[in-house]
Amino acid sequence: MRLFARLPDSVEVGGRQLPLVATRYRAARGIRLKPCAITSSLKLSLPARGGVREALDLIERHRGWLEAQVARWPAPLPFAPGAEIPFDGRTLLIDWDAARPLRPVLDGDRLRLGGPLVGVRDRTRRFLLAQARAALVPATQEEAAKLDRKVARIALNDPVGRWGSCNQRQGSINYSWRLILMPAWVRRAIVVHEVAHLVHANHGPDFWRLVAEMDGRAGESRRWLARFGREMHAVGAETGRI
Ligand SMILES: [Zn+2]
Repeated sequence: MRLFARLPDSVEVGGRQLPLVATRYRAARGIRLKPCAITSSLKLSLPARGGVREALDLIERHRGWLEAQVARWPAPLPFAPGAEIPFDGRTLLIDWDAARPLRPVLDGDRLRLGGPLVGVRDRTRRFLLAQARAALVPATQEEAAKLDRKVARIALNDPVGRWGSCNQRQGSINYSWRLILMPAWVRRAIVVHEVAHLVHANHGPDFWRLVAEMDGRAGESRRWLARFGREMHAVGAETGRI
């Protein structure tokens, strides 16, 4: 018999090994379990102390429900040879041959690259980051110039809950590198949204009026993101399969 139950780092659900991310809250009344499609993980809220056995019980009792949830998630799409990834509104095949030069080259609907297999993932990711930067920096400055504003700093990262953010005071904008996976008109809508925050640092009526003036497809792009946003987060994700 184990005296102290411990939480595992991951839990197998429907053939996928999912990280178990536990957070303790002083004010938590009970234990909550939430599968997160975006991070492909299980989130567990626990009270400040204890609750480990109950949490393990909860996972077991809700196994069927968890499996049903995970089955609806978009399949992970690792950066591996032969994978087809969304890119700039089209599909890009990762075409790897060890004999080719290391550096990825865009050739129509193929991303050709060589070098050791072990580095394919990182080289593909770096390529996409560079493409994202090359697309977003001039687009942002161009939209900002229309509003007579300047953007001091543009950064790319991989946030979970938002595609962009703007710090009006510092004149800085952050984007998700995943914008390069989206069609150009969706990417532009996000750029316009963040640039409009340089004028209105809120989501008030004036802000939305400005967005609508700058981008006729703003509503359409929000619907696109609601439908396909999750799939963008599955790109480059590891399979987590056992
Ligand atoms: Zn906003």
